Amino acid sequence: MNPIGKITVMPAPPARIARLSELAYNLYWSWTPRAQQLFEDLNPALWERVGHSPLRTLMEISQAELDRAAADPEYLARFDAEMSAFDAYMNASETWFSRQNAATQGKIGYFSMEFGFAESLPIYSGGLGVLAGDHTKSASDLGLPFVAVGLLFHQGYFRQLLNGDGWQEEAYDTLNFQALPITPATGPDGREVRVRLGLPGRDVWIKVWKLQVGRVPVYLLDTDLQENRPDDRGLTARLYGGNQEMRIAQELVLGVGGVRALRALGEDIRVYHMNEGHAAFLGLERIREIMQTGQLNFWEALEAVSASNIFTTHTPVSAGNDAFPLNLVDLYLGKWYGLFGISHDDFINLARHDQPWGPTFSMTVLALRTSRAANGVSELHGDVSRRMWKFLFPGADADEVPIGHVTNGAHNLTFLSQKLRDLYTTVLPQDWTERVHEPELWEAVDQIPDAELGRVMHDLKVDMISFVRARLREQYRRHGAPAERIASADRVLDTHALTIGFARRFATYKRATLLFRDLERLKRIVNAAGRPVQFVFAGKAHPADNPGKEFIQSIYRFAQDPDLAGKIVILENYDLNVARHLVQGVDIWLNNPRRPLEASGTSGMKASFNGGLNFSILDGWWREGYDGVNGFAIGEEREYPSLEAQDDADAFSLYETLEKVIVPLYYARDEHGARHEWMLRTRAAIKTVSPRFSMNRQVIDYTRQYYLPVFRRGQQVIAEDYRVARELAAWKSQVKAAWPSVTLEAFSEMPAQARPGAQITVHARVHTAGIDPRFLRVEGVLRLEGADTAAVRTPLRFVTLSEGHWAEFSGELALPESGTYLVGARVLPYREELSNLLELGLIKWA
Ligand SMILES: *Cc1c(COP(=O)(O)O)cnc(C)c1O
Repeated sequence: MNPIGKITVMPAPPARIARLSELAYNLYWSWTPRAQQLFEDLNPALWERVGHSPLRTLMEISQAELDRAAADPEYLARFDAEMSAFDAYMNASETWFSRQNAATQGKIGYFSMEFGFAESLPIYSGGLGVLAGDHTKSASDLGLPFVAVGLLFHQGYFRQLLNGDGWQEEAYDTLNFQALPITPATGPDGREVRVRLGLPGRDVWIKVWKLQVGRVPVYLLDTDLQENRPDDRGLTARLYGGNQEMRIAQELVLGVGGVRALRALGEDIRVYHMNEGHAAFLGLERIREIMQTGQLNFWEALEAVSASNIFTTHTPVSAGNDAFPLNLVDLYLGKWYGLFGISHDDFINLARHDQPWGPTFSMTVLALRTSRAANGVSELHGDVSRRMWKFLFPGADADEVPIGHVTNGAHNLTFLSQKLRDLYTTVLPQDWTERVHEPELWEAVDQIPDAELGRVMHDLKVDMISFVRARLREQYRRHGAPAERIASADRVLDTHALTIGFARRFATYKRATLLFRDLERLKRIVNAAGRPVQFVFAGKAHPADNPGKEFIQSIYRFAQDPDLAGKIVILENYDLNVARHLVQGVDIWLNNPRRPLEASGTSGMKASFNGGLNFSILDGWWREGYDGVNGFAIGEEREYPSLEAQDDADAFSLYETLEKVIVPLYYARDEHGARHEWMLRTRAAIKTVSPRFSMNRQVIDYTRQYYLPVFRRGQQVIAEDYRVARELAAWKSQVKAAWPSVTLEAFSEMPAQARPGAQITVHARVHTAGIDPRFLRVEGVLRLEGADTAAVRTPLRFVTLSEGHWAEFSGELALPESGTYLVGARVLPYREELSNLLELGLIKWA
């Protein structure tokens, strides 16, 4: 048939449970297992078949099944309890944010290429998307004035299938939008919103859908419209699919289309958060908007816009930092230069990143240059990022580069099993689910008896293992395996063995195969008499990442080795569903990335919310989270001469700790047969990781360190008809023009030796080239010989202006501890309206 239209027939829920459809349309259910249970109980087989989608369950359920539920008093009691909890959540008059009494106006707009909310909405590929989904959920929990913007990929990310030889195959399912919990977004006039985006030689129309996540609306952009060219309809087909040209167009849809959508929706956005560089075109669109009023030039508008932009960088890995060839930028953004009234060079320089193969237009650089607040996602990653982007600030030390950090978290309730949630509820304060970020509250976990906690965790392991077996049976059946092979799935994994999980994207830096580096040793550990160890792996490789796919295949083959059979398992299609089962059911969560490339990592946090112990390289979050008791470390905090040496050292450390520490501890019993030592560590993991790495803590950090200051600064810069923006732009342009003529001479009288604490005096003379000396900051600098950052940077006092353009400065520097110091002086342009010393990126050394 050549369909001429589509119509969905769905049963009407009986009035008594009619509000089920309201619940289905709010992703609140995605962190409320009891709410999901209401749908699952209608027809558990259907619930599985529709991929855990409440809405599809309601669409495909029979009237009889609905009627039966509506007549079941036990079901109705649970329905009433869940609906009243939902109402209480949605209508709370007081939230964490409201208690801050922050005099803010308008909202935060959070832009991300991917969002992972639930397995039934496959618009995420991995950690970045799950983080964005979790961030949105906590923004709702905490009551932030917040909206999110993303793309609605109608084929999502791919579904992963492993063939009979363990090779990854990708399947794309076209989503039926009618069966997604989304509605067309409408503007203030009540009409559906559509916005237009100019691409080379044509216009593309974008439709906006609304997804409700608790109290927060998420706007998802869609170009699959009749009025668009076929290839443009495909712009929102696949996440991270296609070539560079597809990618730049997608990023224009997100950044430019996203801002236009918010305007059409009437959302009053005052703070813009770019979650990764993909969204960085939003700054250009905001500049264009302001310039369109005819009042401001490009540089003034840039000041106004960057003051209210925040940028989060998520990875030092180059594949995660988009950069486009300049010819593509000319093709797609060529019209913008003229519109902005700036030169081609000025435009390219906003994002220029020179690579060995030539100049590129880097979305990370663009994001950094169009925001006055930037951060990495763990303490170490902040440091790595400052070093990585230091070249944008010539003359500066890495520690001064204006990139801070907020360590990632995960949304506790999304990943916490209902069984543990119930158990925690027996000892934690009644409102604990709203206060998961408060460390003191978690002390009460000590009141749960060992036996009780152990029993629940064992139940969860049993659940996980039956999930794994069912998945394997399904896979073998699909391969057309003989009956005995299918039956063998029911013999994999032992519910009493030490069980270790490893699941994440198969990017090669995550080294999924490190465990197999010394195969004989691994076999000895796995098969030790009376102390078996077993592993469950899962993860997708990007469709273009053949080395990643080879990793998957080699693990698949190891799993067939008779010496490892049943003890190494690899599951297909890692998604939120698989993730939840694994983090809830394993004893140990293994993570062995090549340090320092794992910016944060989050899956290990989810395991510890459920009592699992992390066994990880001291990279990303674990470097901050590990306290010697709440899990185990692999390797050392150091750098290696070669990747080989690093892999050898880390693999050796992994085997040693596993064999000599973890296995004995796991199987140890005290005189009463209890596993006190292990339970002590389990409790420590729950108590330390749950609050410190909660998504609430992360969003609170963003709010205090970034959102609130940026709300304020954004307002100051645009107040009085953009007065500060205009002044700053004019001043910067004057300073930039004068800067080549600025010179600095400095000298210091000092003995060859001194005691710690002694002072030396530094005098400096600056040729101001007409710059007001009030706006010149001259610093004396002490650097320990051989060190790459300064030990001391002390501003010198302005003394006098002589001969009209020579400004004299002087000051004392205190010598810190013993050592040989180099003494220097430098000058930079600064005034207090700037967000940081390096805002102009101009420094001159004497
Ligand atoms: C948490 C999560 C990730 C991120 O895991 P990392 O440890 O950060 O690599 C990826 N995919 C899914 C489905 C997740 O739930």
